[in-house]
Amino acid sequence: MRKELIAGNWKMYKTSAEAVSYVEALKTALVERQEPVYLAVPFTAIHPCAEKAQGSHIVIGAQNMNDASEGAFTGEIAATMLKEAGAQFVLLGHSERRHIFKESNAFINRKVHQAIKENLIPFLCVGETKADREEGRAEEVVALQLKESLKGVTETQTESLVIAYEPVWAIGNGKPATAQEAQEMHAFVRKIAEEIWSTSTAEKLTLVYGGSVNPENAATMMQQPDIDGLLVGGASLSVETFTKIINYR
Ligand code: PEP
Repeated sequence: MRKELIAGNWKMYKTSAEAVSYVEALKTALVERQEPVYLAVPFTAIHPCAEKAQGSHIVIGAQNMNDASEGAFTGEIAATMLKEAGAQFVLLGHSERRHIFKESNAFINRKVHQAIKENLIPFLCVGETKADREEGRAEEVVALQLKESLKGVTETQTESLVIAYEPVWAIGNGKPATAQEAQEMHAFVRKIAEEIWSTSTAEKLTLVYGGSVNPENAATMMQQPDIDGLLVGGASLSVETFTKIINYR
């Protein structure tokens, strides 16, 4: 049985003070919960949030990192720095990184390896643009992103790998994929994982959907056989809304 995984991505929102009071409130709201909930917070909020989250099932992570261990890369951050601050996972290849900051699959692949090396769980994000889908190239684009970003990742290493399918056309605009569209692409991601590794690894992989998830569509998405969880952007910024998504049942 694959485990359910619900994660929030705050993007460039919340000061450390705002972040800490959010974590405190979420901790109270989730006091009964036994499963982890993941929060990708801004770099400056990682340490205070990780401290505040102690004794709870809230897992703090980062939204990006560099592929190098250290070096003259002004403005970048290393995996070891994130770990030391208290991050346990990192989003890699988010569509905003791919499209605004022009990150390539090769760069993302090096980051995936660096995250694994430093014991940070990589949450690899993939997804096609609206134009890709309209031109009938959605599967081709997602397959290439998966194959190139996961090059050299071994079957054993997939035990701590999360893949997020986030169609670019559904992110941040209140227009989610239909549950059927999401399910179809998750099944396709599993098929590609089978080609890269094996059927048993593909079956065990944790695949999450992201793109305008809200309290109304969370349950339907979670009912899909190949969707194991949700990566929630905008709707994770409010404790109340995010709690509704977490308690979607
Ligand atoms: C995201 O940032 O990963 C995301 C899916 O955003 P939203 O939920 O706002 O579409």
